[in-house]
Amino acid sequence: MKKNRKIETIAAQAGVGADKAYGAVSVPIYTAAIYRYERFGKNRGFDYSRGENPTRHAAEKALADLEGGDRAVAFSSGMAAISALMTLFRTGDHILCSDDLYGGTYRLFETLLRPYGLSFDYVDMGNPAAVRKKIRGKTKALFIETPTNPLMKIADLKGAARIGREKGVLTVVDNTFMSPLLQRPLGLGIDVVIHSATKFLGGHNDLIGGAVITTDAAVGEKMAFAQKAIGAIPSPFDSWLLLRGIKTLAVRVARAQENAEALARFLSGHPAVGKIFYPGLPDHPRRELHFSQATGAGSIISFELKRRKAVPAFLSALKTILLAESLGGVESLITHPSTMTHADIPLEEQAAVGLTPSLIRLSVGIEDRGELQADLSRALRKAMPGR
Ligand code: PLP
Repeated sequence: MKKNRKIETIAAQAGVGADKAYGAVSVPIYTAAIYRYERFGKNRGFDYSRGENPTRHAAEKALADLEGGDRAVAFSSGMAAISALMTLFRTGDHILCSDDLYGGTYRLFETLLRPYGLSFDYVDMGNPAAVRKKIRGKTKALFIETPTNPLMKIADLKGAARIGREKGVLTVVDNTFMSPLLQRPLGLGIDVVIHSATKFLGGHNDLIGGAVITTDAAVGEKMAFAQKAIGAIPSPFDSWLLLRGIKTLAVRVARAQENAEALARFLSGHPAVGKIFYPGLPDHPRRELHFSQATGAGSIISFELKRRKAVPAFLSALKTILLAESLGGVESLITHPSTMTHADIPLEEQAAVGLTPSLIRLSVGIEDRGELQADLSRALRKAMPGR
């Protein structure tokens, strides 16, 4: 591997060189479940596709290269990746998390894993002093989102990495919102990156996938074991779709971000819009911190409508922007976190972190900017104060 390749080149050439048999530029989809032994005790490195699959291996290599990791292990979803990661911990262990997490991650931690004796605490990861205060003897990991889903709070990644090293605590970043194109936590000293590959990496809303990527050899080994032992693997076809999506990551992310910057400016001046959460705007409280660890603001914008009651009419009036629960794809998607993506977080806890029923999350795609703005503008008329 040429270690100094630029990320755009790594992405565009994802999978190139993986096919040793014929030099296929697009990695073949090896649907084989099993591989024949050459003779007793000798195979060609593959025997059963839950453990090893050439198409999945090519996708894993691309993921490791993109994040600057030594090893990537792919899973059938982002949640499967996070679940596999949690097998590193034992009863009594404590994990300190960002105080505004994707609702599915919160649900896994609180509903499924707490009864096994793991404990979770939530803290503002942008405040290293607060993080230090919450670390206990049993704390084994910091689990970080930045920007957070959906409030776009910014964590201090270098600060977290420093605390992790000092205290012997594993640092984990869910890098789904930024993608490796805009933020590479391993280069900042973080131990593990996880992804919902369903989002920017896949990029086309046609696959569910996840990954754990790390520079820590022991963690990498344990994740590969968990992948094989649990069996939550992406299919060969999904692995291929992921590789295909990765090839255009750089152009998709750049274009979506340009669109998002323009729409964030439009929304921030609109009379129907209240608070707006986007690290690309000059008044985002942690803009400087964000740009010290990422190269762009990304393409997710959260904003509140001034009239909470107008939320259903606004969301139903949109035509080009699709009301659907995901992000990071070529199509612009909009959701109502309180009742959709984050519905499993109790309302009091939503309120405590500032997730209000007026909040809307917009994932900006690569469509024509004028059409997106016109769609928002028309729907926002239904949300004007005084109506
Ligand atoms: N992490 C973040 C930040 C997410 O937004 C999501 C899904 O929305 C996940 C993890 C879970 O990923 P998946 O839906 O691929 O299981």
